[in-house]
Amino acid sequence: MITIDDEVCVLCGLCTGVCPPDALELTPSRLVVHSNCTECGWCVAYCPVGAISGGRPVARRRWRDG
Ligand code: SF4
Ligand code: SF4
Repeated sequence: MITIDDEVCVLCGLCTGVCPPDALELTPSRLVVHSNCTECGWCVAYCPVGAISGGRPVARRRWRDG
């Protein structure tokens, strides 16, 4: 399950651009994860401040290894 730490998220919106099924919605006050999230882990790897947790670790590893 993908979770967003609202205290850490700076609402930059970067994660919304990398989500394959477009499951992330940036509202004026918070980031919302919709039910079509596939737990792929891309947004976790991409968030510059580490506000997202969960998802599949294999996807994070692949992103880092580049
Ligand atoms: S884990 Fe994948 S599908 Fe789910 S919100 Fe993040 S990028 Fe989108
Ligand atoms: S990339 Fe991180 S800081 Fe930016 S909107 Fe997404 S969760 Fe928030």
